[in-house]
Amino acid sequence: METAPAPIVVAIDGPSGTGKSSTSKAVAVKLGLSYLDTGAQYRAITWWMLTNGIDVHDAAAVAAAAGKPAIVSGTDPAAPTITVDGVDASGPIRTQEVTDAVSAVSAVPRVRARITELQRSIAADATRGMVVEGRDIGTTVLPDADLKIFLTASPEARAARRNGELAGKDTTGLTATRAALLKRDQADSSRKTSPLAKADDAVEVDTTDLTLEQVIECVVTLIEEKQRSK
Ligand code: C5P
Repeated sequence: METAPAPIVVAIDGPSGTGKSSTSKAVAVKLGLSYLDTGAQYRAITWWMLTNGIDVHDAAAVAAAAGKPAIVSGTDPAAPTITVDGVDASGPIRTQEVTDAVSAVSAVPRVRARITELQRSIAADATRGMVVEGRDIGTTVLPDADLKIFLTASPEARAARRNGELAGKDTTGLTATRAALLKRDQADSSRKTSPLAKADDAVEVDTTDLTLEQVIECVVTLIEEKQRSK
């Protein structure tokens, strides 16, 4: 009798615009795994800070409030959800205001400690295996993940993709999108507590010249190989 593959935990990290979210969701759907978007959690706590009048550039004020919001992530990759204090936050967390503030909030150690603990408990409950997407999953949150993937792409490719996602909503153009992306990556890579970084044992996939379908196929192959060897 064929046995079901053992649950696998996959960490997918990388900067913005590398196709992390689209790839992670599609791969999880294909392989029947759960999915956790950790960026959405940092966006959710940032949205709560903004709506509660906390100055996001005042690290002490952010730290003092970090334990207050109740953040709940739904892990179905076909319909991921996120609520803050019971309110659906999936729309508000994607606003420019949140995008501009999220790096400052996520650099605060107490915020990271709180969200990291949440992420670990969600991953521990993922009995059918999980794809966890973020910036520090392979290095800090789940250093024992079965497979670590680090997605990269040239700044030009990343800006073009992000602009495509913003089509119709964007008035700033490619140059401004590129500048905003690089600024956020710089902040995320240079913070003291668990910065955006490739784990030593991560497989790096440069997506610059690949279509989304090719990236998905590449990641599915890596996971299937790992599952066979588990
Ligand atoms: O992935 P996304 O662009 O939605 O992430 C938003 C922000 O959340 C990042 O720019 C980063 O500041 C923060 N983040 C983080 N650690 C993670 C995931 C996201 O600091 N694991």
